Amino acid sequence: MPVKADAYGHGALKIAKAGIEAGAHCLGAAAVSEGTELRQGGIKAPILLFSQPAPDDIPQIIKADLSPFVSDAEFASILNEQAKAQNSKISVHLKIDTGMGRIGCPANESLSLARFIASCPGLELAGVATHFAVSDSADSENVKYTMTQLSRFKKAVEAIKAGGINPGIVHAANSGAVILHPESWLDMVRPGIFLYGYKTAEEKDLPPMYQKKLSKYEPLKASPVMELRTTVTLIKKIKKGGSVSYGRTWTAAQDTNIAILPAGYADGFPRLAGGKWKVSINGKLYPLAGRITMDQCAVDLGQKFDVKRWDEAVIFGGIAPNAAALAKTVKTIPYEITCNIGKRVPRVYT
Ligand SMILES: *Cc1c(COP(=O)(O)O)cnc(C)c1O
Repeated sequence: MPVKADAYGHGALKIAKAGIEAGAHCLGAAAVSEGTELRQGGIKAPILLFSQPAPDDIPQIIKADLSPFVSDAEFASILNEQAKAQNSKISVHLKIDTGMGRIGCPANESLSLARFIASCPGLELAGVATHFAVSDSADSENVKYTMTQLSRFKKAVEAIKAGGINPGIVHAANSGAVILHPESWLDMVRPGIFLYGYKTAEEKDLPPMYQKKLSKYEPLKASPVMELRTTVTLIKKIKKGGSVSYGRTWTAAQDTNIAILPAGYADGFPRLAGGKWKVSINGKLYPLAGRITMDQCAVDLGQKFDVKRWDEAVIFGGIAPNAAALAKTVKTIPYEITCNIGKRVPRVYT
């Protein structure tokens, strides 16, 4: 269960605990600091490190009992030396690059790397993994690419087994593959964004061949976990022609009323949403007036409105359009919206 980047902005420790309670076998962090925080928070489950650590990180990897991906013999032997020196054993997952072009060893070198890991007394091979580049796409070229990655991966795993080495947990699927490619589920799946409620593809938008294939499985449902809420902290009148916020990009076409919200881009409300997004107050959507600033923004309530000072305003999620819609508006992906929620924004769990 990926809980990297503070569980995509949702709060890693709380989400990790909820996930483990719900049956997650293992957690995925990126930075060693993230894994450490989970351990310090009392997490006992295995914690995988998805990014390549630096040699300086190794003492802490050992101390916090984290399981890094290993892509090469050089890093494996540094890990091994340090683990041996401390009389400990580091559990590692061999990462194979089957076409993502990021970390991982070439598929044809995976057997020799597995042999090397198996020969290291300071290392334990706990798993073998790969990562997909276009598994979220049902476009036929992309499906072909994903299937090529999967078959390279399966072949490599078979070779490791044939070499007499136990590969441990074999895993590949990110959210895209969990949704579109059940044949890639293998021993374990690593859905991140899907877990937080955003589907990388909707079944209804897929080619018929997919709808048929997936109809054999329980439909996968997701509902966005995160809502970003704030409070109307001030309401004021603006005269026709008056401007709001930096750059004076917005001027009132007529006498109007403005609600000030104490939320801005430092809270994760993307500055690019200025002039494009609407905020929900008491179930009604009101457009932003002027630029979103670091800590505040304004919405145009118009002349007649059903909003009082101290009412709640929903920027995204819940009754308002969700983070995926906001992402589309500012030409990014929901991952970036939720990850960018500022650390001063209190996370409230219901
Ligand atoms: C982030 C990450 C995932 C999860 O990706 P999603 O697209 O959010 O499902 C899975 N595996 C690895 C190695 C990752 O880095």
